[in-house]
Amino acid sequence: MQPAELTAIDIVTAVRQGDLTAVQCTLAFLQRIEAHNGSINAFLHVDAAGALATAERIDKRRSQGLPIGPLAGLPVAVKDAICTADQPTTCASKMLAHFRPPYDAEVVARLRAADAVIVGKTNMDEFAMGGSNENSAFGPVRNPWDVTRAPGGSSGGSAACVAADMAPVAIGSDTGGSIRQPAGLCGITGLKPTYGRVSRRGLVAFASSLDQIGPMARSAADCALIMETIAGHDPGDATSLTGGVPRYSTQLDQPLAGVRIGRVPEHFAAGLDPEVARGVEEAFAVFKAAGATVHDIQLPHAKYGVPTYYLIAPCEASSNLARYDGAHYGHRATRRDEEGHRATRRDEEGHGTAPHTPGAFESPLVEMYCRSRAEGFGPEVKRRIMLGTYALSAGYYDAYYAKALRVRRLIRQDYLNAFEQVDLIGGPVSATAAFKLGEKTNDPLAMYLVDLYTVTANLAGVGGISFPCGFTKSGLPIGFQLQAPALGEGLLLRATDRFQHLTAWHQRRPKSIPSAGPAGR
Ligand code: GLN
Repeated sequence: MQPAELTAIDIVTAVRQGDLTAVQCTLAFLQRIEAHNGSINAFLHVDAAGALATAERIDKRRSQGLPIGPLAGLPVAVKDAICTADQPTTCASKMLAHFRPPYDAEVVARLRAADAVIVGKTNMDEFAMGGSNENSAFGPVRNPWDVTRAPGGSSGGSAACVAADMAPVAIGSDTGGSIRQPAGLCGITGLKPTYGRVSRRGLVAFASSLDQIGPMARSAADCALIMETIAGHDPGDATSLTGGVPRYSTQLDQPLAGVRIGRVPEHFAAGLDPEVARGVEEAFAVFKAAGATVHDIQLPHAKYGVPTYYLIAPCEASSNLARYDGAHYGHRATRRDEEGHRATRRDEEGHGTAPHTPGAFESPLVEMYCRSRAEGFGPEVKRRIMLGTYALSAGYYDAYYAKALRVRRLIRQDYLNAFEQVDLIGGPVSATAAFKLGEKTNDPLAMYLVDLYTVTANLAGVGGISFPCGFTKSGLPIGFQLQAPALGEGLLLRATDRFQHLTAWHQRRPKSIPSAGPAGR
């Protein structure tokens, strides 16, 4: 087998035993990136030299009999919202196009300390806002199963690079579904841990009460391996949970007898694609065959998940993104008198930039703020900032933000009630398989509805995992989602691992990826 086809567990085992060097392994994935990133656009930055230097150091240590870390030689791709001291961190935004963080995010530091090899930074929706990766300022990612389709988002580059064997593991972030939805649409396994289980220090903040980092890989077993390194308390993140991290890997491969899985009948209402519904029902049958029992349950307020999320997330984003003003952080517009006097112009997306008419600004400083933000942010980020600013403004706060917080509590209570009856909740990840690039770009509401099944886990703070449970007739992966009570990662991984022992959907790879053609639109 080619190194690029090996699982993460196989790679670390082979490197430890000396069957494969870290350099061989890293080179194999760098070659895949070289061959396919042109058509997929999953990576915004590839650090071939840095990755090979790390791999050489690991091989040297091993050959000298010195200890090597638990992830020694494992190539890992990191979403470009997560800070890396030696590589750019752009959040797929012009605003941060030239940002080089002065420090590593805690997850990156832990991966490095475990001797993982950080190969590069993955494409995403700008500031993680989106569900298709088409909101990247650096061109969309293409789905390796069908390059005319979206990989999902916002961690679309992370999902696509694993699906296309450009990395065995990627790190993503999930605020309303951004690990689970692209994992589902790309046929890989993605875990959104419980809120606070993985440190977010160094994750560029989108919606701080919802954001969570997690692993994306080919299997639950590989996600378990990564969780053992990245999960756990970090005093540098005030929201990080205390408490020990289980050895997830040792809890796998157990029968599911006695495990109760909830099924929400409303998930199968109008809107769910019949092929997806069939795949999901077949997955429930697999779980039953594995010894689990399936019970219909209610999440009565889940139907308010999307409107609640699309108030809370933009409100938090409008506050978090205030720091990108050209002075504290991010792109700074050149002064008007430096670039020559120009009349009001439209930017390339067709959205107006700040007016350049003399006297339109209170001061040159305000003008610099306005123009920097007008130039640096893309249309979806601007839309969210405006929505959030409006919903938080005096007179509207109670009607929108405060009400959304109350509905959030009801959604959370629904989960607490449900988890008195069942151990896990199963269902679809998204209503359809991968959709065509461009299909939803002119209809923000249609794009927001993509998040129907995923946002409630973030609102409730619980964990969820997504993995392939079948394929459509046209060969696109169908995703299944399991959700668990807080700190139920062990059970999520164990149940998914069991499923992956009984099925082979997660082993399917895209047959051929066109190597020609530019990735951008
Ligand atoms: N699609 C959702 C959004 O656009 C979720 C994004 C995320 O989880 N980062 O907000």
